[in-house]
Amino acid sequence: MSRFALDPNPSPLEACERAALIQAPAFGTVFTDHMAQITWQAGGRGWHDHRIVPYGPLQLMPATSVLHYAQEVFEGLKAYRWEDGSIRTFRPAANAERFSRSARRLALPELPVEDFLDSLAALVKVDQAWVPAEPGTSLYLRPFMFASEPFIGVRAAHEVTYLVIASPVGAYFKGGLAPVSIWVDQTYHRAGPGGTGAAKCGGNYAASLVSQELAYAHGCEQVLFLDAATSTCLEELGGMNVALVMADGSVVTPPTSGTILEGVTRSSLLQLVRDRGLTVTERPVELAEALAGIKAGTVAEVFACGTAAVVTPVGRLAGEDFDLTVGDGRPGALTMSLRQELTDIQYGRGEDRHAWTHRLV
Ligand SMILES: *Cc1c(COP(=O)(O)O)cnc(C)c1O
Repeated sequence: MSRFALDPNPSPLEACERAALIQAPAFGTVFTDHMAQITWQAGGRGWHDHRIVPYGPLQLMPATSVLHYAQEVFEGLKAYRWEDGSIRTFRPAANAERFSRSARRLALPELPVEDFLDSLAALVKVDQAWVPAEPGTSLYLRPFMFASEPFIGVRAAHEVTYLVIASPVGAYFKGGLAPVSIWVDQTYHRAGPGGTGAAKCGGNYAASLVSQELAYAHGCEQVLFLDAATSTCLEELGGMNVALVMADGSVVTPPTSGTILEGVTRSSLLQLVRDRGLTVTERPVELAEALAGIKAGTVAEVFACGTAAVVTPVGRLAGEDFDLTVGDGRPGALTMSLRQELTDIQYGRGEDRHAWTHRLV
């Protein structure tokens, strides 16, 4: 029995309206009928009041702490509908553990892993009709917690709200799997040593938006950040990790040493690369080295990776004084074959050697 009390939505969307929305899901615009909620209070009460409630507006006082000081962390993972009718998610314990690490960094209470996993299962169970079935589609799950105490003094909040909302999604990038162009930001940084770069928190995204705008202004879709200490080494995109495929098939990627988000997709892909007998090296990668390698052809492919877009080929790398095409500008062979292998596991079409999939319904 689920510990989540169900407060059913009195007016869920009609099946035909839902079907129409699921047919053409655009990322992050449509949400299911319900959301999961757990409340936390300091002073011994801890996490309590586990509920599934109708998806809808929150009532927050203008003084609510998160609106002023951004004490917030979030997660992102997907539920996949399998051929056999079951609904699975991918390595949710890794997200639960990262959620706890993020919470610790933001002085938020840690949600027990079990509550995190149960909240996903309880929400997907009640809203299972919202999990789309078309190839490449899924139900994106967005767990998050924030300082919900109405208090504008500066300290860790004594009242915190955890929610999970869910959104049916198709392809993340408009235009499907065309390679993206990336703007290398040589002005702003998203994270610095000792900062919150390794935490999945809204503040990191707030700090990255001006760079994202710069990328658009230069005709690029995504932004790549350099390390704040030296401005010479590649870190990651605003919401995705990055890796280089060398001409010999080995993969090189920046290490997760505090300023980079530890992506579940990143770690899964690195494992799949190792499983193929190829070499993975996690080490600092200088921008100069990457640019010279792309020019010389020793860097054969570049890809970005994260839950939302899975694996995205990078076709172009541009910055203040360079503009390079990666390879022939088309998706790289290893990039595409890793993407296929990972999505096959996620959708139950390929062997799950590492027991990464997790049944929700
Ligand atoms: C979420 C996120 C990623 C990707 O992590 P996944 O677990 O693979 O989805 C990468 N970088 C940043 C900044 C992120 O927030």
